[in-house]
Amino acid sequence: MATDPGAVPPNWLQVWVEAGRDGQIFTYANPRGLAVAAGDLVQVRLRGRRQSGLVVQVLTAAPADLAPDSIRPIEQLLQSAAVTPQWQALIEQVARNCHTSTFQTLKSALPAAWLGQRRQQPVRAPRPQWQIEGPLADLADQRLTSAQAALLDAVAAAGGTVPLAELCAAGMHSRAVLAGLERRQLVRRAPLAIGPQQLEAPRHLSPDQAKVLAAISAAAPGSSLLLWGVTGSGKTEVYLQAAQQALQQGRSVLLLSPEIGLIPQLLDRARARFGAAVLEYHSGLADGDRVASWRAALASAAPQVVVGTRSAVFLPLRQLGLIVLDEEHDSSYKQDSPMPCYHARDVARLRAAQDGAVLLLGTATPSLETWLACRQGQTALLELPERIGARPLPPVRLVDMRQELAAGHRRLLSRPLLERLQGVKQRGEQAVVLVPRRGYRSFLSCRSCGTAVLCPNCDVALTVHRSNGGQEWLRCHWCDHRQGCADRCGACGSSAFKPFGAGTQRVMEQLAEDLAELRLLRFDRDSTRGRDGHRQLLDRFAAGEADVLVGTQMLAKGMDLPRVTLAAVLAADGLLHRPDLRAGEQSLQLLLQLAGRAGRGALPGEVLVQTYSPEHPVIQHLVSGRYGAFLAEELELRRRGSLVPFARACLLRLAGPAASATATAAAALAARLQPQVDAAGWCLIGPAPAPVARVAGRSRWQLLLHGPAGSPIPLPQEAELRTCLPAGVGLAIDPDPLAL
Ligand code: ADP
Ligand code: ZN
Ligand code: ZN
Repeated sequence: MATDPGAVPPNWLQVWVEAGRDGQIFTYANPRGLAVAAGDLVQVRLRGRRQSGLVVQVLTAAPADLAPDSIRPIEQLLQSAAVTPQWQALIEQVARNCHTSTFQTLKSALPAAWLGQRRQQPVRAPRPQWQIEGPLADLADQRLTSAQAALLDAVAAAGGTVPLAELCAAGMHSRAVLAGLERRQLVRRAPLAIGPQQLEAPRHLSPDQAKVLAAISAAAPGSSLLLWGVTGSGKTEVYLQAAQQALQQGRSVLLLSPEIGLIPQLLDRARARFGAAVLEYHSGLADGDRVASWRAALASAAPQVVVGTRSAVFLPLRQLGLIVLDEEHDSSYKQDSPMPCYHARDVARLRAAQDGAVLLLGTATPSLETWLACRQGQTALLELPERIGARPLPPVRLVDMRQELAAGHRRLLSRPLLERLQGVKQRGEQAVVLVPRRGYRSFLSCRSCGTAVLCPNCDVALTVHRSNGGQEWLRCHWCDHRQGCADRCGACGSSAFKPFGAGTQRVMEQLAEDLAELRLLRFDRDSTRGRDGHRQLLDRFAAGEADVLVGTQMLAKGMDLPRVTLAAVLAADGLLHRPDLRAGEQSLQLLLQLAGRAGRGALPGEVLVQTYSPEHPVIQHLVSGRYGAFLAEELELRRRGSLVPFARACLLRLAGPAASATATAAAALAARLQPQVDAAGWCLIGPAPAPVARVAGRSRWQLLLHGPAGSPIPLPQEAELRTCLPAGVGLAIDPDPLAL
């Protein structure tokens, strides 16, 4: 009798499925003898629901304690070899470090909905890469705008076909213009055919870059390096060439960036260099696309390059040789919720050690954690102290807003800023303007009693937003509650309100009033919704559709546009005066990043900072541009105060429906922890209400543990902690939290 060579005798599977937070292992039958092994994902039924679970063991006999007909069969094999033993070891380590369960960590590391209850999700093939072909008609009798003509010229100059990524990468052409030409059938897109001859050649490195690259190739497997290079010093070129070296040795590469908004630019550069096979993985992708990237990583025998955000640090790449964390200081590398509250830098360090890869941390403004690791010799230091082509860093000029006021100028935009914006416009250059808040006004408060209009669900003031038609409404930036503008004060009944603080929308409005000739674009979370929102907006700005880009923090990061010659900050003070240990560090990092956007091309740049506190140390360090001096001072302050990174902290966050119940639970938790904390020589601070004590109707409390650097956090397992909390009170354990 012929047998199917793939079939195996019927067997029984121990499957880890989602039941409670930590999952449970149940036995299922495999009656048809599907070839299933430990590490596979299978579909099963649990309590009438379809679930995917992880096979942890294959048994050749049914467990004796179960009646054979009570054992349900599995429904199908979803993914073979989803989890390798080595990858699982990484997950277990992350779970331990983050004080949460392995199941939760597995579930959060795997692509959405791969483990646990199954939503039906179509799995798509990876998105194709396109090339643009044209012109497809005689242009003589076509009416073209200058942008359309320029784009068609570029395609023709490239020989009639050009990869889409390349066409848009330099920022010369916008997707909006392209779409118009496609509609008129003057160009068409076709799947990208890449020949090796079309890939971009590596650039000739500067002597400094070459030295850094040599040090990276010589680095010991498992070691970590800090690449401290000023903005525009050519770090990205070094990443790409280090990646190339890894590929040549048959090893895969992870290129991580903190922000989804920065992914398109990095992806374009990686694809121009390595071809369309470069994978992308981040939360901006649809679930199906993430699964497709994950599967491609699992299936590939050849080394891979992946560009992604923090969650990509878990991608199961074989033969990992290099992990790059660009902008390593960025707080987006830390996950706040859900648990595990991991930091991608820590996971990357574990992976590098496990796989014998090199970890390269790149930034213009190292975090104090990384800097201390350098000082202590755990991380080697590589430097790029100058911009490419010895271009100068842009000078920083301060505008003392108190003097503006004294001179009777009460506008949001100071006179020196208006003057410079006019100059930028006249010279055909571009400017970026950072405003710390989005929306129209920060808040409304009552003229009679001074009470601000608060969110009904949260302890925060509502922000005023404005539609294009000029209609105003109120919105909560914490829970997204929306309401019409209040007509009576909740406290005293007065109907007179006064708006305070300016958001991006208000700044746009004032700019338009003060300098009507400027063309403006807004870049914040409200204007970049949708999958390609960031990219479309930046493409439009790069294509010259506007003179000034007004935006929030995300404006400061990574964009490389040669015509930007002015970077300005309004209300820098809002960044400086936050009650947080890292306020100084983070605001200086942000301001230096922003400064780094100006003068990256051949045109010299300038930075203008409007502030009421020009003597503030952060502002002074910004002006001198010596981040190293700041690092030295700040590190000394932290050392004397035994603060992070000379100490460790762990934050326990509780949230519950009623304030009193949550407070009681927090007190009970503190009592439960106190002996263990004392015994370890740590201290417990709190419980105290969280800085925003109510969010989305839930009351929030917190406990802070503080102890010596390098020592383990004295906490029992998460599951044990939960047993002393009443139902309905949620707990999150955040080791080494970034907000203190
Ligand atoms: P960083 O990542 O340090 O901010 P980039 O890698 O973006 O800097 O480099 C800044 C600019 O210099 C980019 O436009 C880049 O193309 C260019 N560049 C980088 N390295 C070289 C090189 N070796 N030769 C010429 N141009 C370079
Ligand atoms: Zn009032
Ligand atoms: Zn709210």
